[in-house]
Amino acid sequence: MSVRAVDLILKKKQGGELTTEEINGLIRGYVAREIPDYQMSALLMAICFRGMSRRETSDLTMAMTHSGDVVDLSAIRGIKVDKHSTGGVGDTTTLILGPLVAACGVPVAKMSGRGLGHTGGTLDKLEAIDGVSVSMTVERFIEIVQQTGIAVIGQTGNLVPADKLMYALRDVTGTIDSIPLIASSIMSKKIAAGSDAIVLDVKTGSGAFMQKKEDAFALAQEMVGIGEAVGRKTVAVVTDMNQPLGMAIGNALEVREAILALSGKISEDDPLIEVVLLLGSEMLRLGGAAKTEEEAKKKLLWALRSGAGLEKLRTLLRSLGGDGRCCDEPDSLLRARRQIDVTADQDGVVGKMNAVAIGEASLLLGAGRVTKEDQIDPDVGIVMNVRLGDLVKKGQPLARFYVNDETDLIAAEELFRSALKVSQEAPRHSPMVYGVVRAEQEA
Ligand code: URA
Ligand code: CA
Repeated sequence: MSVRAVDLILKKKQGGELTTEEINGLIRGYVAREIPDYQMSALLMAICFRGMSRRETSDLTMAMTHSGDVVDLSAIRGIKVDKHSTGGVGDTTTLILGPLVAACGVPVAKMSGRGLGHTGGTLDKLEAIDGVSVSMTVERFIEIVQQTGIAVIGQTGNLVPADKLMYALRDVTGTIDSIPLIASSIMSKKIAAGSDAIVLDVKTGSGAFMQKKEDAFALAQEMVGIGEAVGRKTVAVVTDMNQPLGMAIGNALEVREAILALSGKISEDDPLIEVVLLLGSEMLRLGGAAKTEEEAKKKLLWALRSGAGLEKLRTLLRSLGGDGRCCDEPDSLLRARRQIDVTADQDGVVGKMNAVAIGEASLLLGAGRVTKEDQIDPDVGIVMNVRLGDLVKKGQPLARFYVNDETDLIAAEELFRSALKVSQEAPRHSPMVYGVVRAEQEA
């Protein structure tokens, strides 16, 4: 059926509900470039103001999913559980979580992305290791998962072209911040990547897309609802991003942090490990490897403490063509020419952090890209020495900068200082985990 876009715009403007056929026709027509950007823009704006019902959002998700290739992972035995984070600073979870979950017997077949702006991408982190290549055929990808239980690669094929077009349009028409549009964008990509079940980490706080907790929960609920409606078991956790999750912000530095974590060198009650264990336990349960949270955590702690997780990371790096020796010598990843400590200029307590600005300071050192074409320097970035609430003395290092190109060093340091307040006032305590959202029938 071909739809008249103007009719859909008028219907949505008046608060009406689009039918399944209308949504399918819209996405088909838009991807075929029969419906022009200006009509799509008007409709997206109407959706921002009028919202969508759960049925409309689920239909939109599936129409977007089927706008391009859908990866078939059915050759891999077991329930394929994917994880998605709405994006944070110092978020090294995938490189710790993937190996731990795989070591517990749940296959990890993950297509990952590159970083843009202040958030790092898993592919960029993996490529910081000598020899690693993240592009391969889907057949080879599946073969590696069958043999080793884990592979993380770049997107292959043409996944969700509708989202590529719509996201670019939303970006320049002020229509990003709509929960049905964000939820369908994220869920369509996860489903097209072939997952049977999905664990979502929705971040909230100064470093997150959803700064307010209520918005993060609304997005989490929407995505879990879509998952339920389209037959993909989905669980979402809402976690804090009022400070970088891990201490490292930069590519090789984050791989080093993952190795330290998997070597048991980071305390098990560190926020990074707390989030890893939470997401991992949801993944094991959805993947059928554990019945209860307690059983899942026990398995994950076994993988962590026995070194089985570290061995999986080594296997992953090797099967991507990389050198696994960094797993024994994490400090070999401290490769930047200069290390510069940024110190506290007064005594006090770390009262506030702006995680986005800290991510941007690392970007100024060359760890991230501003445009898709930018080259990143895998060796540079920031390793934090303090967390919110820590007491510091004047002259004590707050962080260490790993620097190659000094062009923007002063700007990076100024930005970092403005992002971290040492004051006399203790911060308001915020928990690391705000809650878990599950499908209604399981709650
Ligand atoms: N991330 C996505 O993938 N899509 C959105 O719409 C927003 C954040
Ligand atoms: Ca990062």
